[in-house]
Amino acid sequence: MARSFTDQSYILHRRLGRKPDNVVGVKGISLVLESGRTMLDATGGPSVSILGHQQPKITEAIVNQLNKVPYIYSDARVTCEPNEELASLLLKDQPGGLSKVLFVNSGSEAVEASIKLATQYWNERGMPSKVHIIGRKQSYHGNTIGALSVSGHTSRRKIYLDWMCDNTSFVDPVYAFRCKKAGETDSQYVQRLRDQLEAEILKVGPENVSAFIAETVSGSTLGCVPPVAGYFKAVRELCDKYDILLILDEIMCGMGKTGTMHAWEQEGIRGPDIQAIGKALGAGFVPLSGVLLHQKIFDALAAGSKGLLHGGTFQAHPIATAAAVAAQKIIREQNLLDNVVKMGVVLHRALEDEIRPLPFVSDIRGRGLFWAVEFLLDPQNKVPFAPDARYNNQVVDVAFKNGLYILGTLGTAGDIHVDHVIIAPPYIVTVVEIY
Ligand code: PLP
Repeated sequence: MARSFTDQSYILHRRLGRKPDNVVGVKGISLVLESGRTMLDATGGPSVSILGHQQPKITEAIVNQLNKVPYIYSDARVTCEPNEELASLLLKDQPGGLSKVLFVNSGSEAVEASIKLATQYWNERGMPSKVHIIGRKQSYHGNTIGALSVSGHTSRRKIYLDWMCDNTSFVDPVYAFRCKKAGETDSQYVQRLRDQLEAEILKVGPENVSAFIAETVSGSTLGCVPPVAGYFKAVRELCDKYDILLILDEIMCGMGKTGTMHAWEQEGIRGPDIQAIGKALGAGFVPLSGVLLHQKIFDALAAGSKGLLHGGTFQAHPIATAAAVAAQKIIREQNLLDNVVKMGVVLHRALEDEIRPLPFVSDIRGRGLFWAVEFLLDPQNKVPFAPDARYNNQVVDVAFKNGLYILGTLGTAGDIHVDHVIIAPPYIVTVVEIY
């Protein structure tokens, strides 16, 4: 008989003093609890399980790979089929000039590798002073020290400040709902953010700035905030003007979640120089993340030291890449990005119809199947809840009691407290499941 782990667990769980429910099975896009209850996994964990939990083709690919080549040390000496196939699936059309990929194990590691690649790029080009990274306030790029150093999420950084790298600074994120001034047009708002970023670049000195890092659609901290039109065009132009790399973190918003494979494709820009991907890449069956890089970064390495100063024991693990190849094929064969767009419209309508009238609901925003509901104590006058109120947790708890598993991410993020929940259903979601 299955033993219940909820009374005594030896795991250091994220929240202490809480008895987690034991998941004993899966059914389509749902989780089955030990109690027998079925939970609709409406955000696939932190926006990961984009194909639900039962995909026989992925299971088969994993088992086949286990029987064929379960592990190789993916350095320069050996490679294997699923690694190469996945890279080719992602890059054969060279989106935005991105032409090489480094596969790693977590989003945080992908951001670490992005920072290191940027640093190495400038070194190879004889500009070693370019190390400073400009990030955005209220941002989250991962939980390791380097990734946290470029994250503007003050509450997550607070007790580690002595470990944080000093070569960073932060500008305002694009967050029109709370930060656009009364009477300000979108283009005036974009201009204000552009001017602020330019001032920061000039303050630090372009000769010292390596990169600007941002999420294309801000995920967990601000809650699925799409950029105002023209924002990333302005950012891209500034990066080009001052010879600064643009790193886009699409770990949460990318790989199809907003309706295009890469969220930046909707911004009318040529693309980033470095892009971090993760979460949805392997649909959550095996951990996998990656860094996509522009040909110019590769050329600099190839013309310089001819090596990569970053590597890890488990990078490009064949079981993970085999699972991801199967996941990526399912997305393409079943035209699931079309379903993301279609179901995104349905989800938006459902949220407007059913959720908008509820107390404290102040904003509903997102793209594709990546949506958030923001709560304010006084929506009329935009008065936020106290930072420790965590109204979103109460909402997540009530939803959970009612069979719906959604995400209430850390609401406190710097000087602006954003209390929200995220709803990001799998790409295979149906109208019936949404309503
Ligand atoms: N970057 C973004 C935008 C994220 O949302 C996350 C995780 O939530 C990360 C990086 C870190 O990824 P991981 O938790 O896989 O290390």
